[in-house]
Amino acid sequence: MFKGILIEKDDVGYRATLKEIDDALLPEGDVTVRVSCSTLNYKDGLAITGKSPVVRRFPMVPGVDLVGTVEASNSPEYKVGDSVVLNGWGVGETHWGGLAERARLKGEWLIPLPAAFSPWQAMAIGTAGYTAMLCILALERHGVTADKGEILVTGAAGGVGSFAVAMLSKLGYRVVAMSGRMEEADYLKGLGAAEVLSRAEFSSPGKPLGRERWAGAVDVVGSHVLANVCATTKYGGVVAACGLAGGMDFPATVAPFILRGVTLAGIDSVMCQRALRIAAWERLARDLEISKLEAISQVIIGLDEAIPVAASLLAGKVRGRVVVDLQK
Ligand code: NDP
Repeated sequence: MFKGILIEKDDVGYRATLKEIDDALLPEGDVTVRVSCSTLNYKDGLAITGKSPVVRRFPMVPGVDLVGTVEASNSPEYKVGDSVVLNGWGVGETHWGGLAERARLKGEWLIPLPAAFSPWQAMAIGTAGYTAMLCILALERHGVTADKGEILVTGAAGGVGSFAVAMLSKLGYRVVAMSGRMEEADYLKGLGAAEVLSRAEFSSPGKPLGRERWAGAVDVVGSHVLANVCATTKYGGVVAACGLAGGMDFPATVAPFILRGVTLAGIDSVMCQRALRIAAWERLARDLEISKLEAISQVIIGLDEAIPVAASLLAGKVRGRVVVDLQK
């Protein structure tokens, strides 16, 4: 038996409960992992609360990220005792995830834990930090360099946003952070933001084109915010869009794309190919200052606290990242 959060949906309703789970119920997979740490992403919050249909099979163990030690392996790539990281691949949605003491997974989904990070540091980074790096890699691929101008990061006080601010500023960009929580301005400046703007300036319907300001942007919000960011991106600029914290819609016009040559770069961390994942983790090891990681990830909780904290996360009350310590 092992302890884990189980999401069930039946005649009683949709519910997440901390339970003792029988090993025999673990899903198919060639690698069994003793999970040491997991984390709470926005998507985990949606899964645990049932606010959006993230979970596609029931019962489900949530948790799109995990770090652990291989306990049993039929994969040629992993042996007992190896430390591994998993991000995405539908884990926590269609396959049991990291918010449990044990997980059974496909070896091809795993990557070795980078030597630069301890298990809790890797989970403090989690999908949020790895996605922020995928956004930065997309900006770079499309030719955005620090001398081209300012980079806007939306939803900046959240997980992806915090990492994007910290790493872009380390890379020499002038970073402008947009947040709905102006009380977090000092936190964001501590991460490296040169300026903090209120979300209110971006969240109403705007004009098809506005004053050109951003050489690039990382957007986690979607909806009117994304439309307004595109409308104010400079000629030839790039917007990396990865989130929907403000809505799934995109009430924009094509004007920024056809009149200013703006590129909208879509970012997906879940099915991202393995080589790009490994490249992203290598860059995290190089470009993420550990002092910034500690500032972003102040909250370490036990599995028993994950359910109430998931609701606070969705309410936008959690700053930065939450690490779930399975030994706590
Ligand atoms: P967090 O909950 O940590 O942060 C989200 C931030 O978005 C909040 O801190 C807040 O920032 C802002 N926000 C919250 N609610 C609203 C709202 N109603 N309107 C506008 N802004 C809002 O989540 P993550 O950083 O983990 O994820 C951010 C987004 O990115 C989510 O939509 C998530 O699903 C998506 N995501 C996508 C991935 C991909 O592969 N494409 C991978 C990882 C995440 P502030 O208080 O500063 O305004």
